[in-house]
Amino acid sequence: MNTRETLKANEAGHLEIGGCDALSLAKEYGTPLYVYDEAYIRSMMRVFKRTIDQEYNGNGKVLYASKAFSCLAMYRIAKDEGIGCDAVSGGELYTALKAGFNAQNIYVHGNNKTYDELCEAVDAGVGGIVIDSYREADILDKIAKEKGVKQSVLIRINPGIEAHTHAFVQTARTDSKFGFSAADGTALEYTKHVLSLKNLDLKGYHCHIGSQIFEKQSFVLAAEKMLTFISAIKAETKFEASVLNIGGGFGIYYTDEDPKLKEEDYADYLKVLINTIKAKSKEYGLNLPYLLIEPGRSIVGEAGVTLYTVGSIKDIPGVRKYVAIDGGMFENPRYALYQSKYTAVKASDVNALNVQKVSIAGKCCESGDLIGVDIPLPEIESGDILAVLSTGAYHYSMASNYNRNLIPQAILVQDGKSEVIIKKQTYEDLIRNDVIPVSLNK
Ligand SMILES: *Cc1c(COP(=O)(O)O)cnc(C)c1O
Repeated sequence: MNTRETLKANEAGHLEIGGCDALSLAKEYGTPLYVYDEAYIRSMMRVFKRTIDQEYNGNGKVLYASKAFSCLAMYRIAKDEGIGCDAVSGGELYTALKAGFNAQNIYVHGNNKTYDELCEAVDAGVGGIVIDSYREADILDKIAKEKGVKQSVLIRINPGIEAHTHAFVQTARTDSKFGFSAADGTALEYTKHVLSLKNLDLKGYHCHIGSQIFEKQSFVLAAEKMLTFISAIKAETKFEASVLNIGGGFGIYYTDEDPKLKEEDYADYLKVLINTIKAKSKEYGLNLPYLLIEPGRSIVGEAGVTLYTVGSIKDIPGVRKYVAIDGGMFENPRYALYQSKYTAVKASDVNALNVQKVSIAGKCCESGDLIGVDIPLPEIESGDILAVLSTGAYHYSMASNYNRNLIPQAILVQDGKSEVIIKKQTYEDLIRNDVIPVSLNK
């Protein structure tokens, strides 16, 4: 079923997560329920940190890509593990700061940060802002001047590699809303511009080539291209980047179509990357850059399981069987967005043989509101608790109140204990910001 010991069948044959029986969790907290395995999250943070410490002399930092799952408790765990984070919006930055994060360990991203968000980042004193347009550089330079600071920045580069799971494509100029192309000279021109701005302190470059990547070669290629680029920039402008942020993107297990990576495998990805950086830096006579990596999905994805209660079951003979659950696209929009695939487990009988393939349907008013199609399952009845695996990343963080459904609560489990980290929404929450204008109040 999975690679980690914290997710298994207990003696009763029930699904156990972090030492907690899934049926008991469903009973205690209700469904749908996001369950997060704290030990798994911490172990993944440690793997990346340890690898940088051991293989790169600690000359770098892990930044948890917090868009994968952002809440106070998650930032608190990252802080506790001594890693940094990235933030892609004022809201993520706010949450990280509220969790007590040291601003120096926060890097700010986004292809179109607002004026207010840039001010907030400068005011907080973030470690770096990854800039991505002329307009942004100019606005940020003004803000920094007004506030009397010299703001550290990185430039987002499009290295011309796009990776998806088991494949990658190299293009001279990728069609993307992110980054300046390394290949066609636009990144060089932008570098010159940023270097000319007095209130910005250019530290180096950032790239992020995609997500759910298993192909080691795509990371190697990205690192090679970035160092070749850094070397070319040095030759042209004398500016030598001291920071290289290589992004995230390490893949995780969703179904048997994906490899089941162990901790050592993730360490290997990073080692290969580090070795490439070392070799290329040596080849080009560059100082080793301070390395930033931004894993999101790989830290929290497999740590999460969503528990549902099965409601109606609709069998259309010769066509398809729909098993409807009490969740849906409001708490997991990933099938609707990407046709993502999942493994589902009957929580009361983990070892039951799969005898059918069903479509798991949500409760929203959309035909496309599915958790997945053709998911293998054992016999299943209304009232059963269904667990969908690998739901820790890009689930809660992408949730909405569509159809005025309540975003489920999230709990953290470890050593047989569970704690709420995000409270259940209430109907009052739904109308909290609704206003009936005076004109309607007659
Ligand atoms: C999404 C994103 C990440 C994290 O990607 P994962 O696939 O979750 O590891 C890192 N950096 C940037 C800039 C991103 O946009």
